[in-house]
Amino acid sequence: MLANLEDTYFKERAGDLRDIGKRWLYGVMNEQIVDLSKLEPETIIVAKELNPSDTAQINLDNVLAFVTEIGGKTAHSSIMARSLELPAVVGVGAVLDELEDNQILIVDAIKGEVIVSPDVETLQIYKEKREKFLKEKEELKALKDKEAISKDGIKVDVWGNIGSPNDVKGIISNGGFGVGLYRTEFLFMEKDSFPTEDEQFEAYKIVAEELKDYPVTIRTMDIGGDKSLPYMELPKEENPFLGWRAIRVCLDREEILRTQFKALLRASKYGKIKIMLPMIMDIVEVRKAKAILEECKRELQEKGIDFDKNIMLGIMVETPAVAFRAKYFAKECDFFSIGTNDLTQYTLAVDRGNEKIANLYDTYNPGVLQAIKMLIDGAHEGGIRISMCGEFAGDENAVAILFGMGLDAFSMSGISIPRVKRIIMKLDKKECENLVERILTLSTASEIKKEIKKFMEKI
Ligand code: PEP
Ligand code: MG
Repeated sequence: MLANLEDTYFKERAGDLRDIGKRWLYGVMNEQIVDLSKLEPETIIVAKELNPSDTAQINLDNVLAFVTEIGGKTAHSSIMARSLELPAVVGVGAVLDELEDNQILIVDAIKGEVIVSPDVETLQIYKEKREKFLKEKEELKALKDKEAISKDGIKVDVWGNIGSPNDVKGIISNGGFGVGLYRTEFLFMEKDSFPTEDEQFEAYKIVAEELKDYPVTIRTMDIGGDKSLPYMELPKEENPFLGWRAIRVCLDREEILRTQFKALLRASKYGKIKIMLPMIMDIVEVRKAKAILEECKRELQEKGIDFDKNIMLGIMVETPAVAFRAKYFAKECDFFSIGTNDLTQYTLAVDRGNEKIANLYDTYNPGVLQAIKMLIDGAHEGGIRISMCGEFAGDENAVAILFGMGLDAFSMSGISIPRVKRIIMKLDKKECENLVERILTLSTASEIKKEIKKFMEKI
């Protein structure tokens, strides 16, 4: 009853009652509640699995890192950990039975290693490593206000990925000049019911205003796959990543998309918002979404509500179907953004969250790199710009090939921005184009990585 009230204040009290209800049930069932927002200082969380809503609860003042038995590097809780600058090692397999509370752990999130009960010498080595890492991080701050311009004068954009308005400060402080991906589904996930148009408008407006003249690319709700909504009945599926997800949900449940479009249009007046559709594989999906957007624009116009009349509508390119036909999609979109997390899993048919086959999930696979090249060429042939917002855009070893392929913008977690900028400043376009030509003739990911390593050592 409370949740259905108009008044926002009373409406939100429904959440309090639900929380009391949950606690009461845990009490009755003699289950222990682990409240991730109230852990002891200097805690390392070790869990079977953390889902995005668990990760969102973590109190960063008390938690140093987390380790999970299940999960892949591009699962959404891992991506959130990077946004929060929280060290995380995921998919380590069954360790919970071997660990005890209050044991000392070292979590090396760079190497992806966890060391249990280290000896004094190892502890000392890691203390020094940590200090060196923090010192370098401090030095990289000097690049904050610098543009990413290559040695031969070619400028690319470096943007950040966010999951909520709170992440914006991490992007600005790390020197990102825009947002290349705002994953709006987290706004939907932290609520007890669908966020209203006004609630969404407020969130998008904050981001647009904070970024001022810089672009903010806001993706429509990408629910399904590993992201569920507590208040929405999503069917149990054999293959959720191939199932009712993202744009498919939004086109079937049009009212969700309409509400989001209207909130985005209203917020577009306060900054430079671009709208992006996830998981497109058919041009019909783009046309349908475009028609709905036009109807929303008309509705606002009739009500005399102002919005950016030139708002851009682009798509995430993350299915092979779009890579094969990129030029044709480009003719009907204002921009592309490559989602390598999904593009890799859909090109290789390797589930991105399955730790059993994590060794097969590799964006350096020549098939995936070829798909990326086709997308970039297709976008340019079709006369539009193309960015990348998958985790690959923040991979220091991938920067030279992506620059050589002609990528226009890189978007990543805030923490990766300074390192990527530093690399771009050392690159020469012709040399990178030659590197791309060489690697695309190679047959395996390991040969490709070796060739890139040689190149990176030189620069
Ligand atoms: C991607 O697939 O690369 C992407 C950026 O989207 P998400 O990780 O949210 O699926
Ligand atoms: Mg994706």
